[in-house]
Amino acid sequence: MSTGAALAADSPLIIGAGPAGCMAAITLARAGAKPTLIDRDAVVGDALCGGFLSWRSAEQLRAIGIDLAELGAHRVERLALYAGDVTAEAALPATGFGLSRHALDTAMRRHAVSSGAKLEIDRIRTLSPQAALGERQEFHARSIFLAAGKHDVRGQARPRQADDPALGLRIRIPPQARLTRLLAGKIELHLFPGGYAGIVCQEDGSANVCLALRKSMLLAAGGNPRVLLDQLAAAHRHFGERLAFAAPDLGVDSIGAVPYGYVAKDTQAGLFRLGDQAAVIPSLAGEGMSIALTSGAMAARHWLDGGAGAATGYQRAMAQAARRPVAVAKLIWEAAESRTLAAPLVRMARLAPWLTNIAMRASRIAG
Ligand SMILES: Cc1cc2nc3c(=O)[nH]c(=O)nc-3n(C[C@H](O)[C@H](O)[C@H](O)COP(=O)(O)OP(=O)(O)OC[C@H]3O[C@@H](n4cnc5c(N)ncnc54)[C@H](O)[C@@H]3O)c2cc1C
Repeated sequence: MSTGAALAADSPLIIGAGPAGCMAAITLARAGAKPTLIDRDAVVGDALCGGFLSWRSAEQLRAIGIDLAELGAHRVERLALYAGDVTAEAALPATGFGLSRHALDTAMRRHAVSSGAKLEIDRIRTLSPQAALGERQEFHARSIFLAAGKHDVRGQARPRQADDPALGLRIRIPPQARLTRLLAGKIELHLFPGGYAGIVCQEDGSANVCLALRKSMLLAAGGNPRVLLDQLAAAHRHFGERLAFAAPDLGVDSIGAVPYGYVAKDTQAGLFRLGDQAAVIPSLAGEGMSIALTSGAMAARHWLDGGAGAATGYQRAMAQAARRPVAVAKLIWEAAESRTLAAPLVRMARLAPWLTNIAMRASRIAG
């Protein structure tokens, strides 16, 4: 490890170049601050995610000059719900998009750098107020924006759920004309006891199949994600029809212990918690990236007004903004994963699509 890098007193350090960190970097850099953005990956990967951007996310991205249609994103106008044999469809309040995280994160990182942010590649191992210890360097800054997303950094880990936490699985089915036709214009949510799968096309025509499930389900499948997917496909006809397009040797990505419902109510001096480090909305709402973008812009505005001293005020304002959408999404997630409530929920959505519309709007963050 090389010796420590002390940033100028007025230069914020941002850990994580995902949607939250990049949004903060773009907002700060365009206002004349000189942020340093650190990410552990030199090459942008394809983060495990549902790959769905809500109309709110699309608006926020458009405002900073990222046009999802120009990136080739798949247009999404409808939500289709499945619970056993019960199905329902509802129009989205406005157009959403299917886009891989590789495409989104690449565009955002490029915008951050072209706006003036300095990009450093390092994996931060430990974080304490005003100091981040990386594998290559030690960074010192009066203001640190923690935007490491799903990955906790030692010294600032979010509380763990003790009993049966949710985990994420993802399989990407390469483009096939029949599957693309089946998914045209919509995002599908397949509800299972203990979780759900979201399916949406990405910019290259592939189908992103992303699941959030209780860990106990994976353990019951012998810890083998593909066995679990095949069991779900056998038990749920509509999901099975989609999974039939996946070759048996397709890799399954996974991420453990997602703390759905977490909201950071407070922080330490100079530490701004962003994105999933600020609030984790149950992913079936498809609003995590909008929360990340909102927090990035909000933290940057607070910092521009009050510097390092604005961290506490920002964190409280962010917690306030996230409270309602997170609570609404948590209620829906609990009903959706319940053995007894999922089918009645979808039946209700079928009889009263306007209720689905209200739920979709109520689970958005205002920004
Ligand atoms: C199963 C599942 C499905 C989801 N589906 C959707 C969806 O369809 N739509 C939606 O809007 N949201 C969805 N979400 C939520 C969404 O993925 C997150 O809310 C969003 O990615 C948060 O953005 P972020 O910038 O906070 O973190 P991330 O996107 O996780 O980015 C964090 C960045 O920090 C970097 N990093 C991490 N640790 C370190 C370190 N120690 N040092 C340096 N760099 C580091 C990473 O490389 C990464 O680039 C889903 C979540 C899950 C779990």
